[in-house]
Amino acid sequence: MKIAVEGCAHGELEKIYETIENIQKAEKIKIDLLLCCGDFQSTRNLEDLQTMAVPKKYMDICTFYKYYSGEKIAPILTIFIGGNHEASNYLQELPYGGWVAPNIYYLGYAGVVKVNGIRIAGLSGIYKSHDFFRGRHEFSPYTEGTKKSVYHVRQLDVFRLKQLSGKIDICMSHDWPKGIYNFGNKAQLVRFKPHFKDEIDQERLGSRPCEDLLNKLQPSLWFSAHLHCKFAALVSHEDTGRVTKFLALDKCLPKRRFLQVLDIDSVEHIDDEELKLEYDLEWLTILFLTNHLISVKSSQHFMPGPNGSERYNFTPTDDEKDHVHKKFGYDLKIPRNFCRTVEAYNPNDINTNPQQPKSQINPQSLQFCDNLGIDDPLSMAMIVGGHELSHSSTLDGSDLNDSGLFDQSNAELNSSCDTISPLKRKSGLCLPKPIGITSPSSQDEISIEASERDSEEMMPDLSPPLEMKEETTLPTIEEIPNLNAKPPMKKFKRRNEEIYKTEEDEEL
Ligand SMILES: [Zn+2]
Ligand SMILES: [Zn+2]
Repeated sequence: MKIAVEGCAHGELEKIYETIENIQKAEKIKIDLLLCCGDFQSTRNLEDLQTMAVPKKYMDICTFYKYYSGEKIAPILTIFIGGNHEASNYLQELPYGGWVAPNIYYLGYAGVVKVNGIRIAGLSGIYKSHDFFRGRHEFSPYTEGTKKSVYHVRQLDVFRLKQLSGKIDICMSHDWPKGIYNFGNKAQLVRFKPHFKDEIDQERLGSRPCEDLLNKLQPSLWFSAHLHCKFAALVSHEDTGRVTKFLALDKCLPKRRFLQVLDIDSVEHIDDEELKLEYDLEWLTILFLTNHLISVKSSQHFMPGPNGSERYNFTPTDDEKDHVHKKFGYDLKIPRNFCRTVEAYNPNDINTNPQQPKSQINPQSLQFCDNLGIDDPLSMAMIVGGHELSHSSTLDGSDLNDSGLFDQSNAELNSSCDTISPLKRKSGLCLPKPIGITSPSSQDEISIEASERDSEEMMPDLSPPLEMKEETTLPTIEEIPNLNAKPPMKKFKRRNEEIYKTEEDEEL
């Protein structure tokens, strides 16, 4: 199976698909899947554009809206994570992932899917230590502060990814794992990007949580973007003998190395058939088992650890996985349930003063949360903030019950989508009891050090689009062989704070 990997997209979908088309012609190959490592900019209209954290002069609607409106169709299945230049209001509607347009799938804050058996995990956003332990309190319209914090990585999502077991084929993150530059041609990197030198010398470049995930998950491949340059590295994991091939790519600009095509052996590939896109059962079960750890408060909160009395290892048992499998009728195929919920940008419309839109609850997320029996953090944040859940989907009579669990038992969804019938969340959830696991594990011990970088303030060079020169963008094809209870009550409390002793720096 041939996979094209893109660094930052920065809204240039049309160009990316053109480039892929050119590669297919030149190399006489068929590319099956496109992976994009963030700064995707899925702005549907000018209102969405106001939620992106860039100065006004850099706001450009680009070409995503054509794929949202149906004017164009993404020619190949496209899977992406979020970065720090996003239509944050739209991505927030899909915390657990979903379709942002036909054939374009967002992985969520964190997510794991299988494409023809290839297991792909992703973490959206960039790491900033001062927001890492906070809840998901943001929603649109954003303040200048929440417009940025909304895309900062949160501990819960990293904690969830760390519960994964078994083999991960591909991991995607927007920022690079910290220290990855030690496993490639560092001298060349510094020559190309001299301003990285100080941070590299001081071991500050990159994301500490991603470094932890790289060491824990040891995927065969890891793709990143954000630093806008191509860089390859090879990490040998001493404890297991596994090897991770790391590749960072540039952003989509002419003469930049923003796309790479890889050949990956998939277990289940059948030529000319539609790709099989499925949920990952272990991931679904982890989401289910850790639902009680969601926080939507702006204060810091902490994940359970080995020194506490509550469960802290959420790697699911076979019984737990089976319980979740049953909820999905033993069919993990991801439904093609995209639907439009806002008007797409129309170049003929004149809107001189677009405003940030109010947050909406997305029918895809409602359906997913209802199937799995988990909460939508956006709905929770809005309810806690005293806001109505609005627009194309309306939830009535929702409330926080005494336990603090989000109770959607009276939830009604008025959706304009044909594919989704009004949903009612079942009030009598039959869930397994939490299982206490006593075996010690260090997997959740994260020590965060002062690794602040201000890369989000580094403006991408959103210069006017130039003609794409196909010969400059043709990648080499690299062969990669053998890739072959009821949830516990919600608690807002500090969990084992002592294990997260940090050298946390202060907010800038
Ligand atoms: Zn970025
Ligand atoms: Zn970027």
